[in-house]
Amino acid sequence: MNRRTFLQQSGWLTTGACLLPGLFQSCKKLEWDQDNTFQGEVIIVGAGISGLYAAEMLLKQGVSVQILEASDYWGGRMRTLPNTTPLFQQADRRTVYGQFSILYDLLRHQSIEMQEKSGSQLYYFAGALNTEAEANQNIYFQEMLQAVENLNAYNGGDISAQAYFDSLGISSNVEATFNVLAGQAHGTSADRISALGIGRQYQSWSAGKTELTLSGNQLQAAIEQALPNALNRIRYNTAVSSIDYSGAKVSVQDQSGGTYSCDRILLTAPLDVLKSGTISFTPTLNSAKQTSLSRIGIDRSYCAMFKLQTALWPSGTRRIIGNNIAQSFEVSDDGWVYCEVSGEQADMISSIFGDPLTIIQQQFDQFIPGAISLITDAAIHTWQGNRSYDPIGVGDARQLLASSVNQKLFFAGEATHTGGHHGTLHGAMETALRAATEILTSSAS
Ligand SMILES: Cc1cc2nc3c(=O)[nH]c(=O)nc-3n(C[C@H](O)[C@H](O)[C@H](O)COP(=O)(O)OP(=O)(O)OC[C@H]3O[C@@H](n4cnc5c(N)ncnc54)[C@H](O)[C@@H]3O)c2cc1C
Repeated sequence: MNRRTFLQQSGWLTTGACLLPGLFQSCKKLEWDQDNTFQGEVIIVGAGISGLYAAEMLLKQGVSVQILEASDYWGGRMRTLPNTTPLFQQADRRTVYGQFSILYDLLRHQSIEMQEKSGSQLYYFAGALNTEAEANQNIYFQEMLQAVENLNAYNGGDISAQAYFDSLGISSNVEATFNVLAGQAHGTSADRISALGIGRQYQSWSAGKTELTLSGNQLQAAIEQALPNALNRIRYNTAVSSIDYSGAKVSVQDQSGGTYSCDRILLTAPLDVLKSGTISFTPTLNSAKQTSLSRIGIDRSYCAMFKLQTALWPSGTRRIIGNNIAQSFEVSDDGWVYCEVSGEQADMISSIFGDPLTIIQQQFDQFIPGAISLITDAAIHTWQGNRSYDPIGVGDARQLLASSVNQKLFFAGEATHTGGHHGTLHGAMETALRAATEILTSSAS
């Protein structure tokens, strides 16, 4: 399926995609084909990529929009390490998952250079660092890779990915690599994610399989170019604490006592914030909504980056997979190391006495001896919620979370994606498109 066919089938050519001027030459003659009945005021909670994209689309339709953002920066989880220097943002690599998406088109439209993911990997197991060729000669390693592949087609009982691995009797020597590929890759660990959830996500995925990378600051520059109106509507350091949607207007309060009023409110705060109950609702959210919050998973993550004076691994190495608590290290030829630890492993790090950054560096030093002494620059960020995933029993929770309440309360953000693109940048943008359409076609109550 080519990009245009995909966009036509998903309806984007006649909706959001065309709202970015010039993004698609083919869109110029097309109009927003929804019955646009709404012209009131909208408050968007959160200036992550979904909040920004929804705002840009609504503003282009003449809707009055204000974005309330808890932090002092825009982009939310779009920035892996939000409070670092431009040097880190430059070295930070972001992945564009698939070439059939609004994000891909947005970046291509701005001639942003993306590279296909390439490079070799090293695997530490059975007490030694193995090249791919060496690892591939190990029968357990081969079985483990096959198990990861089989998860994509998994359609059996609702068990965890770890339970599926255990059922195969594969050596525990390669368990950490399985955990990286089946768990950490989804922002959690293999014992928390559902095998069925992985299978369903893979089977409903429609963005294409190509994985492209670009730097963090390229991504930020592209968003600045594409969504300028949205960026002008942000009120920073404004954490929403309560929402009253019982009256004709929606009343909003922030943690400093500031009050706001609107006709519709779009919530894009991450799942962990919604789960934590720090935003109160009047009337309280119905039980279906509350159940949906408890059924979707999201875990804490440590994201660490450090620079070595010189690379201690063969040129062209992309990733080194370890076998301890910190298991996945993306590396570059110029000495950068990026490690993300989520799920059970992140909880283990937080339970160890000591600084998480030092713990992660020490783990790396165990199989790349001497690495610690060569570190020149380092930073870490803790995400209380990395990206949502499907635990056992998730069922239709994402549909329930995504549904609007009383034509006033609307929900977007990666966790509300119902078509397998949750946990991604382009998936978050797609939910913005859905929610903006819902708002534009909502009727007065
Ligand atoms: C470390 C990491 C790496 C990732 N790497 C990739 C990648 O390479 N490629 C990819 O496609 N995806 C990646 N993802 C996933 C992707 O970043 C997210 O899916 C996407 O950014 C989510 O966007 P969002 O708008 O749904 O939420 P967010 O970006 O979380 O935006 C929500 C916003 O709401 C704000 N907020 C929270 N509470 C309140 C409140 N009470 N009041 C007001 N504002 C509030 C937050 O500060 C935030 O700015 C990664 C995620 C993480 C954590």
